Amino acid sequence: MAQDIQFAWSLYHGYENYKDKHLSNRRFKYSNILPLIHHLKNNNIFAVKKAGESAEGRDVYLLSLGSGDKKIFCWSQMHGDEPTATAALFDIFNFFLTENHYTELKNYLFDKTTLYFMPMVNPDGAELFQRRNIYEIDLNRDATHRQSLEAQILYSAFEEIKPEFGFNLHDQDRSYAAGLSGKSAAISFLAPPFDYNKTLNESRIKSMKLISEQYNLLSEFIPGHIAKYQDDYEPRAFGDNFTKSGSSIVLIESGGWRDDREKEFLRKINFISLITSIKSIAEESYLTEKIETYQTVPINEKLMMDFILRNITVRKFQTKYVVDIGINYEEININNNYDFYYMAKIEDIGDLSVYSGYKELDATGLTLVLGKTYEKEFNSVNEIKSVEPSSLLQKGITNLKLSDGNFNNQYSPFLFNIILNKEERIEELKEEAVPNFVLCERGTFKYAIINGFITRVNNVGRKAGNALIFR
Ligand SMILES: [Zn+2]
Repeated sequence: MAQDIQFAWSLYHGYENYKDKHLSNRRFKYSNILPLIHHLKNNNIFAVKKAGESAEGRDVYLLSLGSGDKKIFCWSQMHGDEPTATAALFDIFNFFLTENHYTELKNYLFDKTTLYFMPMVNPDGAELFQRRNIYEIDLNRDATHRQSLEAQILYSAFEEIKPEFGFNLHDQDRSYAAGLSGKSAAISFLAPPFDYNKTLNESRIKSMKLISEQYNLLSEFIPGHIAKYQDDYEPRAFGDNFTKSGSSIVLIESGGWRDDREKEFLRKINFISLITSIKSIAEESYLTEKIETYQTVPINEKLMMDFILRNITVRKFQTKYVVDIGINYEEININNNYDFYYMAKIEDIGDLSVYSGYKELDATGLTLVLGKTYEKEFNSVNEIKSVEPSSLLQKGITNLKLSDGNFNNQYSPFLFNIILNKEERIEELKEEAVPNFVLCERGTFKYAIINGFITRVNNVGRKAGNALIFR
């Protein structure tokens, strides 16, 4: 184990040498990976072949390297908006391509294993940055009927390879925690069951042992942030079906990590996880692990929120009460889905003590006042820019009226929400509403929460905004 940990750390420290810089934005598309795949044809390490075509005619590729008996198949992004592992696969390709001091190890791996990779199984979904394919079918519920072309491509490749190990690579919601730890589930694993009784067979036990080893190894980098995906049997899912056919399947879900919305750190963890897994399978070192380790990995629980404000005083209905307010930021796709803005919503109100926030504020002693609309109407964006934000925030203002025919932004670039229809607007304090309020201490406004983002009233700084536009 000590040697494996040392190896994992060497990957950790050397990662920047392999990280594919072409994929720097999580919303990369098929057109961004295609030249990288073509580039892989120009060497004698990789075999690149077209595995099929998506519904919109995008070629899906199967890459392979090595010539060993142990076949390992990694596929990513069957859900179009789950790209983290796809980026990590290209980092891994660079690791194998680059001249580095791992030559001996790489030759050993090529001798013991044959590695197969299918990056971006669902390129049409990736184009729209959506989970499903263009038939609106969830590929991971189409493993048996296989009405979508992409499900057929994945299934055929699997049938042809009949791998000993399969890695099913996904992203999951940031809202999962590792059990009741209060820590985000950065990486979640699963050895998928193949029946409702969750029977253990040899291939599933092998998956569990490999995950046990990964749990110990990755705890070096993300201690407490590793979870186990719910193990309910899903007869329509690929992992469950492939397990049934006798392969050892490992599901890896990249979840949430504080201050890593782009998941660059989790991509690095994927890189380490997959290379160390491949090495372990080649050496069969995982076989000495105990499945009890797997069984004690905490379950994924939906107990994280983006921002939690604790102990806010609310005065309403001629009374006064104290609540926590939980906020999540939803990404709204713009610019052909290459970009997004945030729309915040109130996820919950009340006792949120069981939840943890990626960010938290103790608002004890602060009273909530709903955000107001400034009575004056602005005629241009420049006019808004000339106003000192603090002077408006001190009055409890969160919304500005604008009458400018040339203004066609999709979100407000200011701290303030923009109202284009001249109407006064108040966001109520209720579930699903946009969090828009100020927090007051003994008659003075201290913080403003606009579209869920917090600003100090007297110290705004030069922050760029992401507020909303009300039309
Ligand atoms: Zn998924």
